[in-house]
Amino acid sequence: MSPSTDDRKLTDSLAEARYLVGKARSVAVLTGAGVSAESGVPTFRSAGGFWKGLSAAQLATPEGFAADPKLVWEWYNDRRARLREVRPNPAHFALAELERRVPDFVIATQNVDRLHQTAGSRRVVELHGNIHEVRCTRCGETTDRCGVALPDEPKCERCGAWLRPAVVWFGEDLPVGAFAQAEAAARASEVFLVVGTSSAVWPAAGLAHIARDAGATVIEINPEPGSAAADLVIAAKAGEALPVIVGPAA
Ligand code: NAD
Repeated sequence: MSPSTDDRKLTDSLAEARYLVGKARSVAVLTGAGVSAESGVPTFRSAGGFWKGLSAAQLATPEGFAADPKLVWEWYNDRRARLREVRPNPAHFALAELERRVPDFVIATQNVDRLHQTAGSRRVVELHGNIHEVRCTRCGETTDRCGVALPDEPKCERCGAWLRPAVVWFGEDLPVGAFAQAEAAARASEVFLVVGTSSAVWPAAGLAHIARDAGATVIEINPEPGSAAADLVIAAKAGEALPVIVGPAA
């Protein structure tokens, strides 16, 4: 059977991406929930993104937490427990390998799961914080509780106030400096990869536009692509496409 037009298009776009990434001296990457989907972490917009009938947009907000902190913690404790069981997938490992080859390389991730770092990536900007750290809602003390099961109602050991996950909720500002770092990397990049994001959450989605306006070639990898800034679209799963684009470890 001869390959379909779609298969040929995918093969051609993978080859082009491989060429562009292979010669780039500066690569920046924006990742979203889709890069962790093949590790078994549900995206917010998939069916698995709902919990007890509630959407992330209802739970991951300052208002949701103020209304019912115990409920929001039940959701986060469930997600934290699941994360202890998951491992990076070939997409995370391919990006870690790419970092070893490209002199200027940065991943700006919207993910809170730290799977890039577990896979070996070092230059990672966490745009939305991470789920392993907790922060006191009163005194601001932040501690890393990675791998630790938290109580149903986690309270600050110092001042007794509610703890919250050190993530950025809908409607909140990004951590100081994180967006500036990601923006500088986007501007400096020759190739900007947009991987596994719906490009619906701003300002992160704007990074691809900033990169493109500054002269980068923007390559999107997503089975359901959505970035208006993409020059080249690879409609495939990240865990299948990225190992082909990056090639085997040296
Ligand atoms: P999103 O849920 O809005 O979109 C996920 C995107 O991934 C979709 O466009 C989908 O088509 C794509 N996708 C699904 N499977 C894929 C695969 N195998 N390969 C490549 N792409 C795939 O996620 P978002 O754009 O990151 O934005 C929503 C917010 O959700 C972010 O702020 C993020 O912090 C948060 N979030 C994080 C995690 C995590 O840390 N793993 C999980 C869920 C949500």
